[in-house]
Amino acid sequence: MSAIAFNTLPLEQALLDTVSDLGYKNMTPVQAQSLPVILSGKDVIAQAKTGSGKTVAFSLGVLSRLNVARFRIQGLVLCPTRELAEQVATEMRKLARGIHNIKILTLCGGVPIGPQIGSLEHGAHIIVGTPGRIEDHLFKGTLNFNEVSTLVLDEADQMLDMGFADALDNIVSYLPEKRQNLMFSATFPKRIETISERVMHQPEMVKVEDQV
Ligand code: ADP
Ligand code: MG
Repeated sequence: MSAIAFNTLPLEQALLDTVSDLGYKNMTPVQAQSLPVILSGKDVIAQAKTGSGKTVAFSLGVLSRLNVARFRIQGLVLCPTRELAEQVATEMRKLARGIHNIKILTLCGGVPIGPQIGSLEHGAHIIVGTPGRIEDHLFKGTLNFNEVSTLVLDEADQMLDMGFADALDNIVSYLPEKRQNLMFSATFPKRIETISERVMHQPEMVKVEDQV
């Protein structure tokens, strides 16, 4: 399979310029297979091993749907651990640096909730966080997900391994029915299928075999 360049994608020039500035020219296999479907607005389940470029794939999806002029939470990315959430937020902020006044906030456990509530009062476009802490905010009423248009479940297999299935169901109940759902996972156990049936709407499957 020959390499496909990012600039073949229907993305705004500002995003393409940033991708190029970051040194990304050709898409990795999981990006090449998932991004055209993601940008068409469909739900996608993508399975590919760690290090295959999944973060860039879903981040471009979330960023491309964003209306920055509307200062409401429009993208929600759930990750299994604080460390992964910080990594995702860092990568997403790099990709978003050509978008003025964009606010990407991380909400994870293990730190006091008070300052997070303060940050939320100032608003955000995208939340990246761990399920437990997001649930805490929802129960407290300090998060409003009424305008979320993209949900990303990153490392979904790991989130389920960590016992977050109920939290995910709970969080999804706060989201609008009409939204795009993107699920990324390194493996595809039966439990992923079960959660995807509840969360996703006619998802397209993308599976990238390990290349040696
Ligand atoms: P995954 O989430 O699949 O484990 P990441 O999204 O963290 O993988 O990507 C792994 C590394 O590959 C990161 O350092 C990222 O900057 C780099 N990367 C992602 N996409 C590309 C690309 N198209 N070309 C070159 N490097 C890339
Ligand atoms: Mg990843």
